[in-house]
Amino acid sequence: MGKRDDRLADLEARLRFFEEIGADFLFKSPPAPAKPSVPSILDLPPARRGPAEIHAEVLACRKCGLAKGRTQAVPGEGNPAAELMFVGEGPGHDEDVQGRPFVGRAGQLLTRIITAMGYERSMVFIANIVKCRPPDNRVPHQDEVAACSPFLLEQIAAIRPRIIVTLGKSATDFFVPSVRGMTERRGQFQEWHGLLVMPTFHPSYLVRNEGNQGLKKMVWDDMKQVMAKLGRT
Ligand code: SF4
Repeated sequence: MGKRDDRLADLEARLRFFEEIGADFLFKSPPAPAKPSVPSILDLPPARRGPAEIHAEVLACRKCGLAKGRTQAVPGEGNPAAELMFVGEGPGHDEDVQGRPFVGRAGQLLTRIITAMGYERSMVFIANIVKCRPPDNRVPHQDEVAACSPFLLEQIAAIRPRIIVTLGKSATDFFVPSVRGMTERRGQFQEWHGLLVMPTFHPSYLVRNEGNQGLKKMVWDDMKQVMAKLGRT
């Protein structure tokens, strides 16, 4: 297959995805750009170091028990000056093997969502609350979150994104704890240290419920709110 055919196949795949998730804005006249209303200054301590130094420390870290079962730590990746950050719970099997966040089936879906939003994956920053894979993909324990989350906080302080999208309950609870389930909490911006957090479903939940177009539509509605805040619609 030539380069042109590759490009056409890619375009067709993207259009199919847009149709599937109801990305209706693509087929309508674009509305006037929304005025971004996101606070630009975070109420967080200034970063002591950049994402690259944090990355190196994470790779060598053995501060909690998750170090024992990992293949390698997964520090996170992306643009060190990203306006948009995605945060999940922790690495899964594929991420543990490859040392990169969100690269399995759920990660591929996340990448498609990011692309549909008009970004390249490298334009955003993707990270997790804990940087090493919990055994059997269990929810990280409190002591593990306590040991690891300073890395994430440092990443946020260094990157200073304008919006954080939290993927699933664990990530959402880290920023804005609540007893309410994700169905009630998704799609509503929350404020955290002067920046906006948008809770949405974890892509692995969408993968597990593949036939449920309603779930995909909900996530896309949440992302449309993020795009509007960032002036990208
Ligand atoms: Fe260190 Fe975090 Fe891995 Fe625990 S999960 S060993 S704190 S990098």
